[in-house]
Amino acid sequence: MSAERVVVVTGGTRGIGLATAKRFASPETALVITHVREAGPELEPVKAALEPLCASLEIERWSVGDSEAVTASMTGVAKRHGRLDVLVNNAGAPKDGLSVMMSDETFRSAIEINLLGVFFCSRAAAKIMLKQRHGRIINLASMVAFTGNAGQPSYSAAKAGVVGLTKTMALELASRSITVNAVAPGLIATDMTAALGDKLKEAMIAKIPLRAPGRPEDVAEAVAFLASPGAAYITGQVIHVNGGLYM
Ligand code: NAD
Repeated sequence: MSAERVVVVTGGTRGIGLATAKRFASPETALVITHVREAGPELEPVKAALEPLCASLEIERWSVGDSEAVTASMTGVAKRHGRLDVLVNNAGAPKDGLSVMMSDETFRSAIEINLLGVFFCSRAAAKIMLKQRHGRIINLASMVAFTGNAGQPSYSAAKAGVVGLTKTMALELASRSITVNAVAPGLIATDMTAALGDKLKEAMIAKIPLRAPGRPEDVAEAVAFLASPGAAYITGQVIHVNGGLYM
């Protein structure tokens, strides 16, 4: 049986991506989630959580920074399922360090994963969506695209680039009923932010008007809304999910 909705979530094996995949999972939905680093046993609980909830589940391993792998995967999705309704560009990874200390290589790799990756996936998905004259692309940006963040020059530049790319692709694709939007999380409790020291996290939480870090599910809810029929007239926008930290 072919699914009524095909959803691709990059980096969908943990954190915000996994919460998003769970939010999309339904008996009508074929889910494709991707990752780059999780080993086989780490994927078992992901499979167990998602497989019973959706029409089909595929887990693919490739880097969003690998243009050829991205194209091959999206082409494969279109061939197997005959459609692609929603792409969530969630995969991302910070490469922290002060600007003056940062190597060319570190800066480039942050751009490759966090900006080029979004471009490669969106371009490949848009080619499919243009033919079907329908689609939703939702990009995970970050609050630091708007505020900057000392120690994250490459990551904040890449995420700011994602916001510009979101608006431009929204303009280019709107006439074919394809919307392109972004969600900009603040501090969300995931493996990514678990790496921050407790002291730093406490200082950040003290500044959050809602006095707590967000949950991956809080972000997933905004992503799901942008993919829903109710958001059909929203494009080129950024939804901030940050507990009021940046307004
Ligand atoms: P996470 O580190 O928990 O998960 C990241 C996922 O992306 C993993 O599944 C990993 O396999 C995948 N990934 C990483 N590099 C990849 C690559 N090169 N190719 C393919 N997959 C790759 O991250 P998270 O905290 O859940 O963050 C998800 C998204 O939200 C990211 O884009 C991140 O920048 C953004 N974000 C997170 C926060 C936060 O506080 N957690 C804040 C703002 C923005």
